[in-house]
Amino acid sequence: MIPAAAPPVPHIAGNPSVLTAQQRELVERAAILGREKFGPRAARWDREASFPFENYDDLRAAGLLGICVPKEHGGLGADFATYVMVAAELGRHCGSTALSFNMHVCSTMWAGFIADAMDMSREQRQDHERIRALHFARVMGEGKVYSQPFSEGGAAAAGKAPWGTRALKVEGGYRVTGKKIFASLSGAADYYGVLCTRERRTVDRNDGSAGGTMRDSLYLAVPADAAGVAVSGDWDPMGMRGTVSRTLTFEDVFVPDEARLMPEGLYFQAASRYPHMFATLSPTYMGIAQAAYDFTVAYLRGEVPGMPRVLRRQYPTKQIAVAQMRITLEQTRALFLQTAREARVDPDKDARMRLYASHYSIMENANAICALAIRTCGGQSMLKSLPLERLYRDSRCGSLMLPWTAELCLDRLGRECLYEAGERDEAIES
Ligand SMILES: Cc1cc2nc3c(=O)[nH]c(=O)nc-3n(C[C@H](O)[C@H](O)[C@H](O)COP(=O)(O)OP(=O)(O)OC[C@H]3O[C@@H](n4cnc5c(N)ncnc54)[C@H](O)[C@@H]3O)c2cc1C
Repeated sequence: MIPAAAPPVPHIAGNPSVLTAQQRELVERAAILGREKFGPRAARWDREASFPFENYDDLRAAGLLGICVPKEHGGLGADFATYVMVAAELGRHCGSTALSFNMHVCSTMWAGFIADAMDMSREQRQDHERIRALHFARVMGEGKVYSQPFSEGGAAAAGKAPWGTRALKVEGGYRVTGKKIFASLSGAADYYGVLCTRERRTVDRNDGSAGGTMRDSLYLAVPADAAGVAVSGDWDPMGMRGTVSRTLTFEDVFVPDEARLMPEGLYFQAASRYPHMFATLSPTYMGIAQAAYDFTVAYLRGEVPGMPRVLRRQYPTKQIAVAQMRITLEQTRALFLQTAREARVDPDKDARMRLYASHYSIMENANAICALAIRTCGGQSMLKSLPLERLYRDSRCGSLMLPWTAELCLDRLGRECLYEAGERDEAIES
């Protein structure tokens, strides 16, 4: 029997009636872009490992570049929960676009509602308000795109050491020197939101040691066309090929004081007090997990466009496999929605541990669902003409992303399960 009609497309949040009107509207906006534009184009970025410029034109036209820009600066003023739902819907159609878009959105989110939640002096807040207005105007008025290169190939991106990229304070600004690896949007962004260490030495006082600790982290928007900025290396990875995450180098690049995306010292405070800021990558993988499930249902029902109408749903083994996929998908969604609900400044320890567990589970489950999807759909489903093998490759990349790789989530969670703040084994043993 041929299926009578395709089943309705499930909502990324499960039950949309619990969402706010803005959440429903923006997820729908992302779904239309995804279905009509991003999904059909995704194979091309993947094949070419090229950047999805057309998708960014569409995101710009849809107003989504300003999703987390505060309303008073002309943006959509979305909160954390709203953004992650939109990110997941985008990830459902094109993982690479959703992942690199996250780097842009985080730049506006960190300078926006996350900075708002931090302690600042009145002068700092006024200064931040003045400076972020310039950045937000670039996004809203000129359609500029920001990226977020922070990986350096050392311990800094894991949150365990000061950034190797340095910023020396000079008259009217900073001089930035360093290297960032795996910088998504390299060669595509207009501004690179670089995490670096503000050197303790100054041009007038140089005692030979640059110094600077993690507290001296500085978050600067470096214009892509500034003198001393270079993009190098190739990008030919297994998955997420459309992120074009090449190497960026900064050779004594001058940026003005207005390049600050956060006041000096604020990044350290935010990283300590707002852990959800590091959990914005997993929504992309929630979307990938949903896409792998959607594909499997359509494939087993014989409804994948361009494929012969062969039914496979009648086999009990397939039904059990798809049930397992659905169970893992719903577990993943429950954790995803919990993360969305719980984002706030200074979460308690249990909420922080739930966050690690949820981020870890979304990343790992996405890959597990994709693997089961390929096994269940069979050999023809892994042909490059179909999206499943791309979803599988993209999904494998999730748990490699610093600062919260699967390993580092386990590390943090294991330690925090067994130790309370300030506890040390030496003290117990002596
Ligand atoms: C598709 C894609 C896009 C990316 N885009 C960006 C981007 O836009 N911006 C950006 O900054 N980065 C980006 N990254 C980089 C990513 O966040 C990681 O930095 C990168 O994958 C790390 O690779 P590595 O081999 O250098 O890791 P390593 O530093 O060699 O670490 C390898 C593993 O060891 C573990 N580990 C690392 N440090 C520690 C530690 N101190 N203690 C215990 N365990 C540790 C971690 O589990 C880690 O996965 C991207 C990565 C991918 C795959």
